[in-house]
Amino acid sequence: MKTYTANIKLATNSRVELVNITQRVSEALRGAGIKNGLLLVFTRHTTSALTINEDEHRLKRDLLELLEKLVPSDADYRHNEIDNNADAHLRSSLMQPFLIIPVINGSLQLGTWQSLFFVELDGPRNREVIVTIIGE
Ligand code: ZN
Repeated sequence: MKTYTANIKLATNSRVELVNITQRVSEALRGAGIKNGLLLVFTRHTTSALTINEDEHRLKRDLLELLEKLVPSDADYRHNEIDNNADAHLRSSLMQPFLIIPVINGSLQLGTWQSLFFVELDGPRNREVIVTIIGE
């Protein structure tokens, strides 16, 4: 059993944005020298999330619009009394801070239409995502 960790640094460009990190996570896996196991992606921020979905621009807009419907950015939140980003924290809690993907024969077992996305909810900011791979 072996473990490997890599950090991915991201500079996001918008307040709310989906950033496809599949390529960068795959590069981390190549550097790991692990053929079979599990790959964990983890975001270290309370105003971001991770998700897996299709990289199709209309779907990405639909997802961001769904977040706006579920957690409107202009609603009245208590956290905004100290920090004007309650919507971002709440949206983050509806999603998840991590993804786990099986690794077989050195490759991520993603389906044809599956991409890994970093979900920026309070950008633009500099962000850091950790990739940890456990296996043999
Ligand atoms: Zn805050």
